[in-house]
Amino acid sequence: MARQRLGQHFLSGPGWQKRILDTLPRGSEEVWIEIGPGHGEMTRMLAARGRRLIAIEADPRLAANLQEAVRAQPGEWPGVEVVSGDVLELDLAKLAGGRFRVYGNLPYYITSPILHQLFNRADQISSIHVVMQLEVAERVVAAPGCREYGYLSAACQFYTRPKLALRIPPGAFHPPPKVKSALVQMALPGEGASLGVADEAKFLKFIQLCFSHKRKTLRNNLLTIASDQRIHEILASCGLRPDARAEQLSLTHFAALFAAIA
Ligand code: SAM
Repeated sequence: MARQRLGQHFLSGPGWQKRILDTLPRGSEEVWIEIGPGHGEMTRMLAARGRRLIAIEADPRLAANLQEAVRAQPGEWPGVEVVSGDVLELDLAKLAGGRFRVYGNLPYYITSPILHQLFNRADQISSIHVVMQLEVAERVVAAPGCREYGYLSAACQFYTRPKLALRIPPGAFHPPPKVKSALVQMALPGEGASLGVADEAKFLKFIQLCFSHKRKTLRNNLLTIASDQRIHEILASCGLRPDARAEQLSLTHFAALFAAIA
């Protein structure tokens, strides 16, 4: 039960571990945070890459086992600190004490909350490397106009430059998940850095509103915050058609609309 509840699907062999490792940056002075180390499938190899590795594990039994392994053979786990707890409840920047990189084979059921938590600390993060459900990864990297493009794409691209680095089949994990997976690499900062948006939280809420009913036009989705006449004028002032839909808009469009509506 705990396994299902915590999204536990462990990398089952050195082949995929090595392939994932090969995509990660090398830099011996860096601090890494690993989300959900499990039995330490990637932890030891990751530790050899940086100066410090903080591994956050929510399953108390797995965290205790890993802590014990590190205590027994510290030389095998250089710089590893195991934190027993829920990643969503921790202040990652405080734990890292400076800039850091993130790796995680994520518990899929909280992929989006974890990404948003990381984005809250975007100014402290150099890059994020996370395994997630392939379908979600395709949304993260989707460009405007694609079927998969939506709020998650816009939020991820506002903060990062995401790239689908590896497709990973269910058989790479034990037990195998019902879905396909992918490793997504996100270098920071994203497009947001050049958009000059003053209130990022409000901007993301605005994008969410634009996408609130996928079948509706922007005009209909925005009726809760402005009159039809006003929306019509604003769309025109941003060079958008009256029947424009959120899925056609780039972040630059969203930023222009947001500024005009504010
Ligand atoms: N890193 C291992 C691997 O690659 O084989 C395990 C990955 S498994 C998909 C996800 C891990 O995240 C599990 O060990 C699970 O217990 C842990 N986990 C689940 N929810 C968590 C949370 N909220 N905070 C930290 N770890 C969590």
